[in-house]
Amino acid sequence: MTTPNTGGFAALALDLPIEERIQNLCEKLIAIHGPGHTSQESGGKHLNIACPKCLEIYGRKELRSRHLAFNLDKYFRVGKWKPRLGARPPKGYAQCMKEHGAASLEELLGYTPISERGFPDVTLSRFVDRQEDTTYVDPLGRLVPKVPGNCIPVHRLPDDHPCSEYLRERDLDPMLLWSQFHASFCSEGRRELEHDQPGGIPLNEQHGRGWRNTAQGRLIFFSRMQGSDIAWQTRVVEKDGLYLHPYSSAWVEAEPIRYQTGKGSLRNRQLCGFEHVVNSISPGDPSPLCVITEGPLDAAMFPTRGMAVLGKFMSEEQALLIRLYFRRVLLAFDAGSDKPGAKAHTQVKAQLESKGLVVRDFWEGSEYARDRGHDGKIDAAQLGYNWCAAQFNNTCHF
Ligand SMILES: [Zn+2]
Repeated sequence: MTTPNTGGFAALALDLPIEERIQNLCEKLIAIHGPGHTSQESGGKHLNIACPKCLEIYGRKELRSRHLAFNLDKYFRVGKWKPRLGARPPKGYAQCMKEHGAASLEELLGYTPISERGFPDVTLSRFVDRQEDTTYVDPLGRLVPKVPGNCIPVHRLPDDHPCSEYLRERDLDPMLLWSQFHASFCSEGRRELEHDQPGGIPLNEQHGRGWRNTAQGRLIFFSRMQGSDIAWQTRVVEKDGLYLHPYSSAWVEAEPIRYQTGKGSLRNRQLCGFEHVVNSISPGDPSPLCVITEGPLDAAMFPTRGMAVLGKFMSEEQALLIRLYFRRVLLAFDAGSDKPGAKAHTQVKAQLESKGLVVRDFWEGSEYARDRGHDGKIDAAQLGYNWCAAQFNNTCHF
């Protein structure tokens, strides 16, 4: 029996679903031109790879800049490029966005593979999305976020460092912050994690309306679960209503986003400070108690009990994590401040209670702590904690 001649690979490929044909082409181009990422533009979905001509002129940095934009939708006539009767096939599906203009697929496939063009370490042959910039696969097989950049543990910073000043002003102990969250100061953010965005910090004084979102110049809180930091959050450093400029170390007027969760963070699968709190449970404690907060700085009020959800929503997985070790929860979510706050408080409380946890609100206790304990953070936290533990003892028995 003979198989009909299908006309070789090209004809076979036409039988494949369009997604697979696109994927195959991306893999081919990446094998020849190095790592790429896709982006959705108004003109269609693009694959962005290093322009071979730019690579010759400008060197390795082109591997990151990736000036060659290959319009996949246009080439495969999908999306807005669906062929119309009588329409001629579209031209200019591949363009160097820097200076080399249009390229053709034949031309691009004709290049020697990048590893043989003087870039022997560039061996990425699989198609990868933009994720490659922000995440990696950890030893447990989880896709987790890369660190935001060069991070200095807060207890190693000089006393006169702006970040040390900030912590001192808030009565936060750098050593405790380190044990709880591996709290660090990001002295140099990874450029590929940065992007312009409203609510960032002005790029420079001249750049009035330019705002950049960066981890640089911010406090970083890491959430370590089973050996890897599976999430991190940044917090802007402030002083008397001014914010630390990420690139100049000056205090500036701005309206930055105060907290940002790192790209690729597994937010729903973690609690920031979890491992530290679990390790702090005393062996004889029959019914350990933990304090759940929205952000790490609130959790820092409870150096051995506090852990942060990192946001205004608690997933089922987060509630189950708590249920693994705890039966009683003090909820330090500020329900009174605003509408989203009240909504978050309701959601988190319901999620915890649905898992059989006994929940009490802490925010009254927090006022108690603030009014009565100004001798230092720990004393205040301990006072508040004692107060809340008393609430538990008075209202329920274990
Ligand atoms: Zn070019």
